[in-house]
Amino acid sequence: MTQFPFSAIVAMDDMRLALILNAISPAIGGVLVRGEKGTAKSTAVRALTAVLPPVEVVAGCRFSCSPSAPDPQCPDGPHPAGAEAQVRPTRLVELPVGATEDRLTGSLDVGLVLTTGVTSFQPGLLAAAHRGVLYVDEVNLLHDHLVDLLLDAAALGTSYVERDSVSVQHAARFLLVGTMNPEEGELRPQLLDRFGLTVEAAAPRDPATRAEVVRRRIGFDTDPAAFTARFADQESMIAASIAEARARLAAVVVDDASLQRIAAVCASFGVDGLRADIVIARAAAAHAAWRGAAAVTREDIRAAARLALPHRRRRNPFDAPGLDEQQLDDALGEDDPDDEPDPQPPDPGPGEDGSPAPPDGQAPAEDPVRGPGHGPRESVSPTGATFRARRLEVPGKGYGAMGRRSRAYTDGGHTVGARPPQSAVRDLHLNATLMASAPHQVRRGRAGPGLVLERADLRERRREGRESNLVLFVVDASGSMAARRRMEAVKGAVLSLLLDAYQRRDKVGLVCFRGAGAQLLLPPTSSVDAAARRLDDMPTGGQTPLAAGLTEAHATLRRERMRDPQRRPLLVVVTDGRHTAGGEPQAAALRLRRDGVASVVVDCESGPVRLGLAAALAQALGAEYLSLDDLGDLSVSTLAGSVRAYRRGLVA
Ligand SMILES: [Zn+2]
Repeated sequence: MTQFPFSAIVAMDDMRLALILNAISPAIGGVLVRGEKGTAKSTAVRALTAVLPPVEVVAGCRFSCSPSAPDPQCPDGPHPAGAEAQVRPTRLVELPVGATEDRLTGSLDVGLVLTTGVTSFQPGLLAAAHRGVLYVDEVNLLHDHLVDLLLDAAALGTSYVERDSVSVQHAARFLLVGTMNPEEGELRPQLLDRFGLTVEAAAPRDPATRAEVVRRRIGFDTDPAAFTARFADQESMIAASIAEARARLAAVVVDDASLQRIAAVCASFGVDGLRADIVIARAAAAHAAWRGAAAVTREDIRAAARLALPHRRRRNPFDAPGLDEQQLDDALGEDDPDDEPDPQPPDPGPGEDGSPAPPDGQAPAEDPVRGPGHGPRESVSPTGATFRARRLEVPGKGYGAMGRRSRAYTDGGHTVGARPPQSAVRDLHLNATLMASAPHQVRRGRAGPGLVLERADLRERRREGRESNLVLFVVDASGSMAARRRMEAVKGAVLSLLLDAYQRRDKVGLVCFRGAGAQLLLPPTSSVDAAARRLDDMPTGGQTPLAAGLTEAHATLRRERMRDPQRRPLLVVVTDGRHTAGGEPQAAALRLRRDGVASVVVDCESGPVRLGLAAALAQALGAEYLSLDDLGDLSVSTLAGSVRAYRRGLVA
């Protein structure tokens, strides 16, 4: 299939630069590209391999050994000196988000080893990506245990596959490229820090640039061969420049003054640890090599810091992305007087629009909350203090994705039993296997001390751990909630539960009801960021259509069940149980209950006269009933106590 040419990509200057720097110096540690859908992130990544130098490999080795320095551990080795070599293009290997562990690391047939003594290893994607590019689209949605395996391999340059003390290892060094849409959930901090550089991809705003993007896309789709031919010269020029820069890199000088400048920049942005310093030094050296320069200058450091710092500066979870460029310039200090005149970097392609990146990656103000019906009688309460929330969970045992909320049958977790394997054994239960073989030893003619094992004896562990869930909040935002700063406390409580959901890797959604009806403020997403923003902006006012809120929740959960059937929902209704519009809530509550939706009612009634309506709603839903004050984590009683006291102060 013909690829869109790398040099024909318009306007994604930061992204192209970050990819090129990593291609020159893979030690930088990869690139994470963040951006909304439809910004051609994946096109740019896939285009990269065409401008990377080809690799020389030992012919027939499934692990891409280099003929001059074969991997001594190579499962296909040892390769004799002077083994036949072949040259192939650099590979781009895509890791699908839903991949199994076996697919990523390769699989080892433990059953075959135990019963016949033969080690048989089927290489996975980590082996395929060795000396190439490993690309993970939607990297933020990758399973935790795959993330761990990926991080280990990336850090060590080696993949270890171990099953029940049979192990295989092979080299796995690759350029890691991830793309993600932050609206769909953030990345774990450990994984974020692992990426050397990050860039924000945004669609260009300048009309002429936008038109050019579309023109080229249409040109390519109409006649890929002719379009690619038009860019052939530029493609080979970039490829040659990358190869030259690679050759030059080792000789690039990073002097003490540059290292001090890098340290000053990192200190200014409050970066933890030394990782950022190292990444900036490497990226600055690659940038100098790319320019054809012999030593790193202020401009190389600036270019490197712009890409290496945004995800490492100390920030709050809900800060805007990006970097303050003025602060960067101040931290970099004055230009060196004795800098050599800067050679310009090779032009990575035509069509530079020269338009600066959007300041903080902030989208233009668009308000999904205060849509129609945002009348003058509505107000927006601030979000009150947060606290550590107790774990609310779905009863019973699920089969959902690994997480930290409800009990479930999972790949990890503690052993609760044994069973015959469904396919190849991945997680051998040795005791159970030996026990299963014991009754057959005489019949099988056992002579020596060793047991005679057959495939039918094999047992694997059945494990129980925790799954993540969908936590759907239904929040009363009617006028009565505005009284006496009640909404402030409610928002603080919901935000506390949202932060807890983030820790537990749940999906979250938000429905509010007020005025004439209910509104799905946030469809189920992994982005707790987005949920917190919607919550913060949520206005209060009008009547109390509780039934509409429950009906909207019911419809949302039904839709979500089609999309993600294994994920069990937990409905959290935050209300005082009052309803002043849209009929009785009982029928809607019963529909939810009949669908088997686990729910919690958080009663936010306060004041001297209480009606206890929320308790009745909880009964109709078959829900756990809690007061706002019960939401704190009781295991940290002192903390919860002080928070409760603080909140009472707020509510009173
Ligand atoms: Zn090999």
